[in-house]
Amino acid sequence: MIANPPPWPGGARCACAITFDMDADVLIQVAKPADGHDRLYPISMGRYGPVVAIPRILETYRRLGLKQSFFIPGWCLETYPDAAEAILKGGHEIGHHGWLHEDPIESGPAQREQFERALDAHDRICGMKPRGYRGPVYNINQMTLDLIAEHGLVYDSSLMGDDIPYALRSRGREIWEMPVHWGTDDWPPFAHYAEIGYMMPVRGPSEGLEGFWEEFEAAYAAGGFFMLVVHPFLTGRLARWAKVEAWLERTLNERSVWFAPLEDIVAHLAAARASGAWSPRVEDTPYYSGPQS
Ligand SMILES: [Zn+2]
Repeated sequence: MIANPPPWPGGARCACAITFDMDADVLIQVAKPADGHDRLYPISMGRYGPVVAIPRILETYRRLGLKQSFFIPGWCLETYPDAAEAILKGGHEIGHHGWLHEDPIESGPAQREQFERALDAHDRICGMKPRGYRGPVYNINQMTLDLIAEHGLVYDSSLMGDDIPYALRSRGREIWEMPVHWGTDDWPPFAHYAEIGYMMPVRGPSEGLEGFWEEFEAAYAAGGFFMLVVHPFLTGRLARWAKVEAWLERTLNERSVWFAPLEDIVAHLAAARASGAWSPRVEDTPYYSGPQS
């Protein structure tokens, strides 16, 4: 069970979001700044996302009538504007995912400039400000939360503190947290990337996805929230996406679920909270005032 299952639209039992982080080849650019631009194998592995997988994923969503969320680094918006345009044309959400997929904590004070440079890319390429943020490698700090709130974004999706959305309060401001975790992320089962020090045995499609569906069953039984954090160059590959597509069809036909972009889920929860129908758990940050000893 979960302590406070939210009421979902139409009496749906579970809210679902398949969120794609379209990192493309930015990962090799940031991991190997001196020569990442000339490492063709990882570039090709990443480019598969915007060039091959995104059209495939968007076609599935169009056929099934789904609108979902994508998180895209600013550099990827500028490098692959056609993919961004196709995503927006399909009615999907594009969220903030850093500029060059820098680790926000490693960036130190440069984090602000990178955050704002990405916002400029959203403005130029998407013609709008993002509503949500996901930290590259989930590695956010208090400064990130402050930047999100300062720039008027309404939610973060990088933290692991609950099964369902909750609220984060910081210096008199509040944002929503749409929680992630490694059990619903496709890096552990599918990524194999020596150049960035991530060497996992690649699972077969069914085996790699199986854990996700078990996570869904638990969220569904509890009346909660199920979210995948996946990548076009991993889960958008042919055989894996065929399995996800079959699961989507089955779930839409047989279960009482509400698939929506994260911005719509946040808007729904904010309205439920305003009407008094439901209250989120609220956490105060910073968690600590300084180093603990
Ligand atoms: Zn990413």
